[in-house]
Amino acid sequence: MDDARCIELNKIVTNEDLYVLENVKSYQFVCDECGVSLIPCSYKKSVNLRKPYFKTGKNAEHKAGCYAKATAKIREQAKTSRISTEEGFPLAYPNRFNLAAVKSAKFIHEELINEEPSDSKRIGAQNISSAANAGHTKTKQNYVTSSFQTLVDQYFNFPFDRDRELTFEGIKGNQYQQIFQKINNPIGKQKFRFQTAEPETKIFFSILSWDKPEIDNNIIKIKLSAGWWQQSAGKKKNLRPYFVEINTEGWQASVLTKFTERLAQIRELVKGTDKKALMAFVGEQDREEDFYRFTCDESRLMCFKVF
Ligand SMILES: [Zn+2]
Repeated sequence: MDDARCIELNKIVTNEDLYVLENVKSYQFVCDECGVSLIPCSYKKSVNLRKPYFKTGKNAEHKAGCYAKATAKIREQAKTSRISTEEGFPLAYPNRFNLAAVKSAKFIHEELINEEPSDSKRIGAQNISSAANAGHTKTKQNYVTSSFQTLVDQYFNFPFDRDRELTFEGIKGNQYQQIFQKINNPIGKQKFRFQTAEPETKIFFSILSWDKPEIDNNIIKIKLSAGWWQQSAGKKKNLRPYFVEINTEGWQASVLTKFTERLAQIRELVKGTDKKALMAFVGEQDREEDFYRFTCDESRLMCFKVF
């Protein structure tokens, strides 16, 4: 399974959280749906090549008809094939993103909004029965999220279902695949490439380059692996990487610290492994001065993902 409820932290912990959680062994995890104890596995990056996950212990099983178990099966299937059918997508998912709306709603209904229900609680009845032979009849309900990481996880965890609906304020399009845009290398003799036909805000993403980020006053520059690659002396070299320029002016000190720590953690995590770290951010490509530059300045609209 990809996530579990942590008893001490009283929240859902995802498999990727395990990479950065210190002293994983000191925590207890249970299935969020049926409460069976779960064991975190494969979370030490230096010794494990596969991604972290949770499993039940010896002689322990999820309760009969546990939604979380059924959901985990569907999610597993989604990594290699499309799971949408004529009846739609079998799991509830975020189809709207809004930083502000959720924030103000949170103020009123802290309890309700604070914790987005996990997929398992809102699974579609017909699909769960075909996927896991469970006889439940819960209606799935899509929802609004203010978590950028959640959206990015949805995009990458369901690679064959990117035509799902998504409304993102300030970005054109109404499907995941129209809102997200991979930063592509220039082709052939192109020295650079405009990533969109016209100036446009998108959720851009690219694998990070190995180079250290540059931090200078209020500006953080993060180099990406996408860029102008050329063959030189038998080796392919990235002559001009695209980069993200983050203006941190006006950020709270704690937000800035958290971000730079996270960035360092992510870089450390992939160092010397065959893992790759990807950055996704809401931003724009500079089309006036330096075409290799992307800009973004909202800390809540950028995140990382490790593959
Ligand atoms: Zn369970």
